[in-house]
Amino acid sequence: MADTKLNRLAARLRAFPARPGTRFMEVCGTHTVAIRRAGIQKLLPDGVRLVSGPGCPVCVSPDRLIDEAAALARQGAVITSFGDMLRVPGSRTSLDRERAAGADVRAVYSPLDALAVAAASGRETVFLAVGFETTAPAIAAAALKARERRIANFSLLTALRLVPPALAALVAGNTELAGFLLPGHVSAIIGKPAYEFLAERGLPVVIAGFGAAEIVSSLLLLLEMHEEGVQRIVNNYPGVVRDGGNERSRAVMAEVFAPADAEWRGLGTIPLSGLELRPAYADLDARRRFRIVAEAAPARKGCRCGDVLRGRIDPPACPLFNKACRPDSPVGPCMVSSEGSCSAWVLYG
Ligand code: SF4
Repeated sequence: MADTKLNRLAARLRAFPARPGTRFMEVCGTHTVAIRRAGIQKLLPDGVRLVSGPGCPVCVSPDRLIDEAAALARQGAVITSFGDMLRVPGSRTSLDRERAAGADVRAVYSPLDALAVAAASGRETVFLAVGFETTAPAIAAAALKARERRIANFSLLTALRLVPPALAALVAGNTELAGFLLPGHVSAIIGKPAYEFLAERGLPVVIAGFGAAEIVSSLLLLLEMHEEGVQRIVNNYPGVVRDGGNERSRAVMAEVFAPADAEWRGLGTIPLSGLELRPAYADLDARRRFRIVAEAAPARKGCRCGDVLRGRIDPPACPLFNKACRPDSPVGPCMVSSEGSCSAWVLYG
C-alpha cells in the first residue's frame, strides 16, 4: 500500500477503538476479492471482523439452474452464458462437461452477444440470465432488441436476483451483523432508498467503491457510525452512484421483468427476491418454451458454500477447503467464481 492517502486511512483503521465482537458484512463478491487482494482484512482493529455475503451471482444460483441448462444443451439448444457459469457444477454435471461431450455451449461477454449467436445460427439459443440489478437492465435490453429485430429463436433461462430482499432475509430476527459494506455497482442502479429498511433496523450501511482507499474509508465510516450509534445510509461512492440510482435502467428492467419469489443457495426461497419475465414476454422464457427434463441429484456432501454466503463461517471452516475443493478442481460454486469467497481466500490468503 504505497500511496500516502491509503497509508493514512490504514493507520486510522488499525488504531480505531472498536468494540470487540463487531462483525460487518461485505455483500459483494468484487469487494471480497478486492479486500483480500489488498490485505485489508489485516488492517481491521482487534475484535472486528468482515464476513462475506451473498453478492456473488454465480455462487447463489442453485444447482437446479445448471441442471436445466445442461438438459437444454442435451435437447439440442445452443446455450450461451457468461464464462464463469460454465465451470459451476450442477447436481450431476457442468456446462463445461456438456460441451466436452459435444453440446453447443458458448461463453459470451454480454446478452447482446448471445442475441447475435441466435441471429447468426438460426438455432434455438438460450442465454443464462444470471446476475443482480447490475446485469438485469442489459438482459432486459437484449430481450427488447430480440422483439424489435423479430429474432424468434432467442430465449432466456432466468436466475436473476435482487440484493435488498436477500439482505432483509439475512437481518430478519436477531442478526449478529453490525452493518454492511454495500455493493457500488448494484447501488448505481437501485440507489440509496432501496436500503432504508437497514437503517430502520438499526444498522449503519455504506455504499463503497472498489479501490483499496475507498474500501478502507468506507470501513472507517461504518466503524464510526457503529460506535456512535448512528444508523444511516452513506453513499461513499458518489462519483459512480447517484443517491437516486439510475431510473432509466430500472425502467427498462421493470418493462421486461417482474419480481418473483426465488431460491438462493444457502438462503432458501426468499419472497420477491428474483426477476421473472412478465407475461408480455413469456415467449422469451425458456422454461415455457421448452419442456425441460432436468435430472436432479442429492445435494453434494461437505460443501458449506451456503454457510459461507450467509457469513456464518469463513471458507477454511469447510472441511473440503483447499483439499478436495481447490480453484483448479472446484467442488462448490464459491470456489468456481472469480468473485467467490472460497477462491478469494485461496488465491489471496
Ligand atoms: S471450499 Fe469448496 S466445498 Fe467448501 S464451501 Fe467453498 S466451494 Fe463449497
